[in-house]
Amino acid sequence: MIDKLPTVKKLMRHLHQVPFLATKNLYRVTSYFLQLDQERLQQFCAALQEAKSKIILCNVCFVWQEKDTDCVFCADSSRDDSVICVVESWHELLVIERTQAYRGMYHVLGGVISPLDGISASDLKIDELVTRAALGVNEIIFALNQTPEGEATSAFIARKLQQLPLKITCLAKGVPIGSNLEFVDRLTVSKALTDRRSF
Ligand SMILES: [Zn+2]
Repeated sequence: MIDKLPTVKKLMRHLHQVPFLATKNLYRVTSYFLQLDQERLQQFCAALQEAKSKIILCNVCFVWQEKDTDCVFCADSSRDDSVICVVESWHELLVIERTQAYRGMYHVLGGVISPLDGISASDLKIDELVTRAALGVNEIIFALNQTPEGEATSAFIARKLQQLPLKITCLAKGVPIGSNLEFVDRLTVSKALTDRRSF
């Protein structure tokens, strides 16, 4: 039936490329957009375009920031800039921020080393982290997902940092192995941070 509606098919093809949008929900999401009135649809498209044009990555910690304002973390003098927490993505950062148990800085790698997905160290912000660490940081906390790729990435970075006079730690084992940090509850993350161990 969809084959006879080429315009709908085209829309669905685009929606299908949106990560995390389950295939089983494609019809529902398509219907939602088709039923939107013109004004709401324009607001939606405008919001998307505005975000795309006004949001950039901070060139120090690689967290999203508004183009015309300072980075929420780097510009906050109440945060401890002698500690850097290394995360895979923005999602994990939000999880840690929600605990309110951490007041240091962040470094978003942009993923983990994963040869099967074609992601190598040079695709990530690893060199930038090493440069930052060399400027006089006391502690680097690895808060990568405890997956084989996350562990391997932490080990790779630790080797690059070993010449520097700093402490390297990682989250306590309380965070279930193989789980995405995003799905672990606030208290567990908070405890994993306070009980962090030497890497
Ligand atoms: Zn920043």
